[in-house]
Amino acid sequence: MSGIRPTGFLHLGNYFGAIRNYVKMQEEFECYFMVADLHSLTTHPDTKELKGNVHRVLAENIACGLDPDKAAFYCQSHIYETSELYLYLNMLAYKGELEKTTTFKDKVRQSPDNVNAGLLTYPVLQTADIILHRASLVPVGKDQEQHLEMARNFVKRFNHRYGDVFPEPMAFNYSQELVKVPSLDGSGKMSKSENQMATLYLADDDEMIRKKVMKAKTDAGPTEPNSEKPEYISNLFLLMKLVSSQEVIEKYEADFNTCNIRYGDMKKQLAEDMVAFIAPIREKVDGILADDAYLRQVMEKGAEKARASASETMKLVREAIGLNYF
Ligand code: AMP
Repeated sequence: MSGIRPTGFLHLGNYFGAIRNYVKMQEEFECYFMVADLHSLTTHPDTKELKGNVHRVLAENIACGLDPDKAAFYCQSHIYETSELYLYLNMLAYKGELEKTTTFKDKVRQSPDNVNAGLLTYPVLQTADIILHRASLVPVGKDQEQHLEMARNFVKRFNHRYGDVFPEPMAFNYSQELVKVPSLDGSGKMSKSENQMATLYLADDDEMIRKKVMKAKTDAGPTEPNSEKPEYISNLFLLMKLVSSQEVIEKYEADFNTCNIRYGDMKKQLAEDMVAFIAPIREKVDGILADDAYLRQVMEKGAEKARASASETMKLVREAIGLNYF
């Protein structure tokens, strides 16, 4: 189970942190993937662009290979049981631990005028999303590690107080470690809303991709063989590892280690490999986005599957809590 907020264009971080895993997991597991529209209201109360963004997240995931016939692919707000479970879990979440969450503190810093209760209880709603399907694997990027730890704590508290209803959910990635796709300017991560010139979006055209990659920060190159890479250079290598061939990666690693690296050439190669990776996805998105009837059908079918699983879980939850008086 996992979700993506409809707050803008999807980017390489969403792809490698999350969607790439969805596409593989749908072949192996019973999967629930959702557009996290309720979560987006915590930071984006203006809903003028919400519908367009929801459609975009659906279309971009499908263009990346998410198959709505294999996984349940739905909108969070279509499943009312989520809100009920969120309410019960709120009674088991403490103000102190919520206030200590890194993402909450970041958001308070970014928008001091909109520190709403939804923002504070974001990890509680996220836990409700996950355990509503009694999911155990949650494909997410590294930025979500702390939220998953909180989810496990809420689950332990629920199970301890009311009986074993839920498995403990774990953050999941097919590679050994959770992924953080860095931004092109050498600081922070790629993101939907911050630092747009340092983020590669799945919707960027070829020229824009080249322009962004060529602007990435470099320096005059190492002066000692086998030097340690500065963070902005190791980030470029990390991006290369995501999209380039083994042969290309080995060539530039060797050039770096022998002080022969030409960063201009490396960035040109990276830009072309990025174009080759992103262009086929971008080209599919427009066709899917133009088909409103298809998107509606995807959402209806996804909601139907998600509701069936949610109502089963909620029967167990109400019984476990003792909300059964007949
Ligand atoms: P969000 O865009 O915050 O709704 O996140 C959707 C999914 O993308 C989550 O699983 C995140 O962990 C993942 N994600 C977002 N940005 C990155 C990034 N820069 N690197 C890796 N994963 C990311």
